[in-house]
Amino acid sequence: MVFNSAKKKERFLSEIIELAADSIMAVNENMELFFFNKEAEKTFGHTSDEIRGKHLNVLIPARFHKQHEFHVQSFSESEVVARLMNERENLEVQALRSDGSEFPAEISLLKMSFEKEKIFVAIVRDITRRKELEKELRILSEYDSLTGILNRRKTEELLKQEMSRASRYDRALSLLILDIDHFKKVNDNFGHDIGDLALKHMVAICSENLRKVDFMGRWGGEEFVILLPEVGTDGISLVAEKLRKAIESQPLITDSSKEVSFTVSIGGVVYNKSMSSWDTLFKQADQALYQAKHQGRNQFCLNPTQSSK
Ligand code: GH3
Ligand code: MG
Ligand code: MG
Repeated sequence: MVFNSAKKKERFLSEIIELAADSIMAVNENMELFFFNKEAEKTFGHTSDEIRGKHLNVLIPARFHKQHEFHVQSFSESEVVARLMNERENLEVQALRSDGSEFPAEISLLKMSFEKEKIFVAIVRDITRRKELEKELRILSEYDSLTGILNRRKTEELLKQEMSRASRYDRALSLLILDIDHFKKVNDNFGHDIGDLALKHMVAICSENLRKVDFMGRWGGEEFVILLPEVGTDGISLVAEKLRKAIESQPLITDSSKEVSFTVSIGGVVYNKSMSSWDTLFKQADQALYQAKHQGRNQFCLNPTQSSK
């Protein structure tokens, strides 16, 4: 299609702007709003007439005013004519509705000059849904859906992080691997659903007995990993025994008042700098777990190479 008059082209462009699914607004050099499209009216809850002449800050939560001002200033002085605000440093941008509520926004800024007057155009997209999905995805990728604690992938990541922290700052770190004894029997005797509840119950008991800085992750099935920062040779047995006893003494009581008792075997290792990879640390705790099982279950064993000291 060819526009045979400037008017037709103008109408075409203005319809695009009004039909756009993003909020489009413009401010002058003093940051006073003079244009607000239909989507902006809907999203922000201000009419175009109400907003005209108001400072852009009415659309930004007060705590972001300074940061925003700085950003616009640097954009104004830069060579570029268009910029995505969130692009740099993973900047969090929140927008403010007329009712005081906020929403996360993605903002593209455009800069132009109109007869010597500088104009800024902002295209604002409400990314609430995207943020929610990102959060859901993160939870799915980091947490175990049954017990709500960290999954294996995330546990491994934190284990590596904690190891390098312990090594760098010469801090103590201990690792426990905990495996439910004869868990097959729990499933066989009470059914898989009660087995699931028993896993949750056990995680709840551990959480109650751990500190905020400790991590607990589900390594798989009925096997769990617990990381104890700042815990060394003196503390590891105390923590492990406390957990073991708490689990032994607090059976799960089902809705039909059935008592599901079970015990755990725990293997532990204290980190030292000679362990080059998380793998080594993990294997040593696993050896200790094997020993605990082998010696009759319902007990804690420290890695054999450390327990003789
Ligand atoms: P051991 O004392 O040697 O550890 O014996 P065990 O029966 O606990 O060990 P085994 O590894 O042979 O069996 C583990 C059982 O845990 C088998 C499996 O069905 C059960 N299990 C694993 N994950 C889940 C789960 O998510 N829910 C339920 N209910 N059971 C699970
Ligand atoms: Mg087991
Ligand atoms: Mg097992």
